[in-house]
Amino acid sequence: MATNPKKIFLSPPHMSGKEQTYIQDAFDTNWIAPLGPNVDAFERELADCVGVRDAAAVSSGTAALHLALRLLDVQEGDAVFCSSFTFVASANPIRYQGAEPVFIDSEPDTWNMSPQALERALCASAQAGKLPKAVIVVHLYGQSAKMDEIAALCERYGVPIIEDAAESLGSAYKGRASGSIGRYGVFSFNGNKIITTSGGGMLVSNDVQGLHKARFLATQARDQAAHYQHSESGYNYRMSNVLAGIGRAQLEVLEDRVRARRSVFRRYAEELASLPGIRFMPELEQTRSNRWLTALTVDEREAGVTVSELLSSLAEQNIEARPVWKPLHLQPLFAGCAYYPHSERESVSERLFAAGICLPSGSGMSDEEQLRVIDCVKACWVRNSSISA
Ligand SMILES: *Cc1c(COP(=O)(O)O)cnc(C)c1O
Repeated sequence: MATNPKKIFLSPPHMSGKEQTYIQDAFDTNWIAPLGPNVDAFERELADCVGVRDAAAVSSGTAALHLALRLLDVQEGDAVFCSSFTFVASANPIRYQGAEPVFIDSEPDTWNMSPQALERALCASAQAGKLPKAVIVVHLYGQSAKMDEIAALCERYGVPIIEDAAESLGSAYKGRASGSIGRYGVFSFNGNKIITTSGGGMLVSNDVQGLHKARFLATQARDQAAHYQHSESGYNYRMSNVLAGIGRAQLEVLEDRVRARRSVFRRYAEELASLPGIRFMPELEQTRSNRWLTALTVDEREAGVTVSELLSSLAEQNIEARPVWKPLHLQPLFAGCAYYPHSERESVSERLFAAGICLPSGSGMSDEEQLRVIDCVKACWVRNSSISA
């Protein structure tokens, strides 16, 4: 065999080239701290970009979620609803607060939170006299959840929404930026996200008072006094001024990155949609997904190819592909937590988990690299049809 071809990563960082300028600025002015002009500017620029009044830059998306729960006064014994079909970080902060997650299934049109399941869960909690303190709605792989339906339900029961928009920066729902619709929105700038600061996050909201409090909590909750006085427990969650410099340069090219990921998606769809048994993650009408990751399902019976065969063929070619997120209600960590499926007969997230994979989707991927992925996928189908012929 020839030497291993160069590795194609799932979603590698993609620098613009201007990051160094902002970093240099931080060094020149000696602002090497979790505070400073890059942090202030990055917050302002991101708030403008998503159309909210304020934004607080923090050390991770997980930290931003945790702060949102603190702002909503989530405490020990409280319930918090959360999408089940997501990365574990969506729910970990619920447990940080000693609260109990209740997991809500997906629906087929968006793969995100099922309004039907949410309605049953809210109704049951109201009857039990214990409404959740918050609903965490995830916009998976860039696709917005059905926010009108979800917001109407939450409003009816008076429960605030936290949008986990960690994967959907640059996406839109009916003309509104993802993350700007709920009481609080959360973004992540982890190394694999659509733009990155290597590690970082942002909490956004029109609740300016709330974000003021979030900044206070994120800097060890220090009271107004010269002598280091504290009356509440806080965290060390602020973003470094050096990393905020990376974020500023990355934010300038966000729209380019969205366009690139969408065109990666389009090419996969054009080349692969005709293979029997392949279905791509849908894009809901009146929404624009950033297509952070191209996700698809394989119907193994129709395809004659299994998900694990496909993943191992790609791995053999040094191509990083992954199964979709394992639903949180199936995680050992959350064994025993309540779960509301889409309908009594159907658990959509379990079906998607059994059949779903994500293909390499980096905005810097070359045409040749993408062709390698496409050829490898096609080869699985060809191989199989020649065996069965
Ligand atoms: C990445 C991610 C997070 C966490 O963000 P970090 O910055 O890595 O802490 C939360 N939720 C979802 C859905 C994510 O994909």
